[in-house]
Parts: sequence; structure tokens; C-alpha cells
Amino acid sequence: MAIRERAVPISRYVDPTLPSGGLTTSIVAITTDVVRDGKPVVGYGFSSIGRYAQSGLIRERFAPRLLDAEPTLDPFQAWDAMMKGEKPGGHGERCVAVGTLDMALWDAAAKIAGVPLHRYLRDRVPQTGRVTDTIAIYAGGGYVYPHDDIARLREEVLAMLDAGYTRIKIKIGALPIKRDLQRIEAVLELLPSGDRLAVDAMNAYSAQQVRTVAAALEPYGLWWFEDICDPLDLETHARVAEGYPGAIAAGEALFSRAEAALLQRYGGLRPQRDILLFDPVHCYGLVGYLQIIDAFDNGGWPRSAFWPHGGHLVGQHVVAAFGLGGAEVNPRSFAPFGGVADDAVIRDGRVAVLDAPGIGFERKADLFRLFRELELSDPLTRAPSL
Ligand code: MG
Repeated sequence: MAIRERAVPISRYVDPTLPSGGLTTSIVAITTDVVRDGKPVVGYGFSSIGRYAQSGLIRERFAPRLLDAEPTLDPFQAWDAMMKGEKPGGHGERCVAVGTLDMALWDAAAKIAGVPLHRYLRDRVPQTGRVTDTIAIYAGGGYVYPHDDIARLREEVLAMLDAGYTRIKIKIGALPIKRDLQRIEAVLELLPSGDRLAVDAMNAYSAQQVRTVAAALEPYGLWWFEDICDPLDLETHARVAEGYPGAIAAGEALFSRAEAALLQRYGGLRPQRDILLFDPVHCYGLVGYLQIIDAFDNGGWPRSAFWPHGGHLVGQHVVAAFGLGGAEVNPRSFAPFGGVADDAVIRDGRVAVLDAPGIGFERKADLFRLFRELELSDPLTRAPSL
């Protein structure tokens, strides 16, 4: 087994020259000793979107443990090997580092089995849902542009609608609420009804601000109001949920089963109405995400409440395998990671489940090129034993 890792910059905008806050992600390639069609099977992964590259933790801690556990390719056994010696709590972003390698392990395992990841998951885990040919998706984006914001936002949303998306999510919280309401109204002019638009405040509001904003949003009848305040301010979540009649979406910035259990117990969320955004990569990968699904299953939540964060191909497999509500897709942000496969057709806000073996990064030419370049770099080494 050989593991390679590199940090790469990513942009929130189609035009990558617009400043995007220096956001990065880690890409990894795990080259296995298993040969298919005359070539070793390679699993690819990356750190999803929004939490920066994880080079230090991957290189110093988790990749060396995987190499030491060689030839463990089973994703569950490999996960145990990576987590060996880790203590409960203190999730920090180690969960993202583990999730990055976990993604590549599942990609490799499904490729070895010769099936798409969603089908491989069906064969491996008991939590799967109803089999479907297509899944619901929505287009996420709508970050504030540094110039001509409203005109460019409208242009972005029109391009999403043209591509076949019917539901859209835009960002709020970075501007005064008055200006955010102008952005919301500009987008609503392009949509048939308010329930086609979700807004994501990116955890920007204080406990006081969020109550004012919730009251201002209420008349629009939006699809959902996301990341409404600090992700660990469960008291404020509960207070807003008491009065806000629309759906609240939460969980994107909670990364463990223990944190998910706290949200479930103290966040005041309503199982038949609210939305769970947990990112299947950031939550210690699929192994950790399964623990979170179990926790909410046991709490009486419907699978349709899950709309996983991330905006890339992995979310689409997870939705297809576990019968979740639908997947975020970032068609115009975070290239080359966001979006659907190059040959995918989106119709009425739905897309066909992926049919390439593994995750199917090979069906996104720009992303696959990036992974192939990574394969030319030096592999990581085992840590010297202490
Ligand atoms: Mg969000």
C-alpha cells in the first residue's frame, strides 16, 4: 500500500481569481496491492469542503497508522486502525483527517468489488434504505460577490435553474440583514415559490441576532434556515425552534456521534420538520456517519431529514444507499470537487445514481486529472517508532 497527500486551494466562485479566504482541502490517493485490469486499484479521497486541508494530521498520525496496519483494506478495520489510541472528545478537525482517508478506503473497496459505492454500501451495512434510480439534489452556492453582488447572484441562480436544479441554497449572514433580504428577494423573483430557496447563515449570528433574523425570514416561507448560530449553542437552537415555523437545518459543524446526540437531545429540533446536515466526510468518514444515522434512527427521526453537506459525489452515494432526503451539490463552487459527474443529466431537481465503480471520480475529468498528478508525487512514509 502507498498513500499520497497534497493540500490544494479551492474557491467559492466560478471565477477562481475572486478572493475566497484561502480555503484549501487535502487530496489523498491510496494505491493498493490489488490488481484489476492489469493495474493496481487506487482509492481517492479529499477533505470535503469548508474545513481546510488536513496535511499535518494525515501525514503525522493517521496515514502512518494505516501503513502499519497493512494490508488492512476493509474500511471498518482500517478505521479502527486509524483511531487506535485516540481518546473520546476533542474532535477538533482530526475527524476530517480520518474522513479524508476513509473516503479513499471506501473508493478502493468498492472498486475492488467492481461496484459503485452506493451498491457496495448496500452489501456491507445494515442501515440501507429503499433502492431508487434517481436521488433529489439541490444547488448550493450564492456566496456574496465582492462586486456587482446582486447581478452576479442572479446570473448564478439562473445558471443553476438552466442546468436542471429546482431548489437553491444561498449564503446569508455576511452582510447586514437588510442587504441579505434584498439578495433573498432577488433570487425569489427567479423561483416559483419560497419553498424552493434555502438560506445558510454559516453560523454567523449571535443568540440575539438570530431571533431578529428568524422573524424577518418567516414571511418568505423558505425551504430551510441553516447554520443559524454557533453550532454548539444548543440553547439558542431550541429557542428559535420554538418560534420559527419553517425548517431549521443544523449539524454541518458537529462531527461526532456524541455531538449529534447533544443536538438531538438539547437542540429543540423537530423530527418531522427540521433538516440534518452532517457531512459524511467531516464526521470521521462514513464509519462515523453511520453512527450518527443510527443515533437519529433511534431518536425517531425520518431518513428524509438528512441532506448531507459537502456538495460532491460522495453525498450522492450516501443519499442513494441510505434513503436520505437528498444531496447538496455545489455546481459552481469549489471546482473541481463540487458538482455531479461530467455526463450526469439533472432533470426536475433529480439526478441518476452513479454507476461507475467506486465513487466515480474518474467521471469528473478535471478532478481525476488532479488525482493522477498526485500519484506522481512521493508516497508518505511510516512514522519512526518512538
Ligand atoms: Mg452550511
